[in-house]
Amino acid sequence: MASNFTSAPCLAAITAITLAVSAPAPAGECSRKDALGTSRILTVDASSSPRVGLKSFPQTLPLEDREVVLTFDDGPWPGTTPKVLAALAHECVRATFFLIGRLASERPDMVRAIAARGHTVAHHTWAHPNLKYLKPEAAIGEIDRGIAAVETALRGAASTTPSTPFFRFPYFEMTPAALDNLQRRGIVVFGADLWAGDWNPMTPAQQLNLLTERLQISRKGIILLHDPKAQTAAMLPAFLRYLRDNRYRVVHVVWSGGRTVPDKAH
Ligand SMILES: [Zn+2]
Repeated sequence: MASNFTSAPCLAAITAITLAVSAPAPAGECSRKDALGTSRILTVDASSSPRVGLKSFPQTLPLEDREVVLTFDDGPWPGTTPKVLAALAHECVRATFFLIGRLASERPDMVRAIAARGHTVAHHTWAHPNLKYLKPEAAIGEIDRGIAAVETALRGAASTTPSTPFFRFPYFEMTPAALDNLQRRGIVVFGADLWAGDWNPMTPAQQLNLLTERLQISRKGIILLHDPKAQTAAMLPAFLRYLRDNRYRVVHVVWSGGRTVPDKAH
């Protein structure tokens, strides 16, 4: 549909600023002058924000009115993730991808492509089970295997210490033991503040309407989307345009890079 972009110049601009994580990426740095752009970068770590997202927790990220954080779960997926990346690049917007380890191991090139475009690469288990139905040690094993697979794709080393310690539970189904484990390791647990329910079949237009209606109510927040969903990939260009036309601002979350492990973990 509307995903036939000529986004190469924008991709180059995004790549060039990947390393400058402390600097914002306003639309002015984008080759397309009326792009949405990333308005600011928000550094996050477990000492200040151990668990965020009002769907699951009492607190969320410190966002201002009309600020949103874009998050995509369950990729990478060959048929749709490239379309999502193209839509984000076209608007010079950076997002966070919570990857499934098994899929990352099958398409490490796509994991590196996500990172190379300046997006945050985060974690979402190895095979996306409901961790509530696993024994505690098996649940931690799922988390660690997923992290190791993504880190292998990113760095060529199967470390269970994530480069970016951001994790989201499949189905938002969490256990006290897994939450404790992640907190000890300084890994931030992401919930979400709003979603369109894109796991339910609907047309891109229906999904856009639902998401924008909910955003008009919440006015800000962590938005959950799924890049493997064709309806989401098809909707995204129009949604990003909606954000720009309605003066919303996209915030990119990155890890603070230090001091994430609480003292008690030592
Ligand atoms: Zn998921």
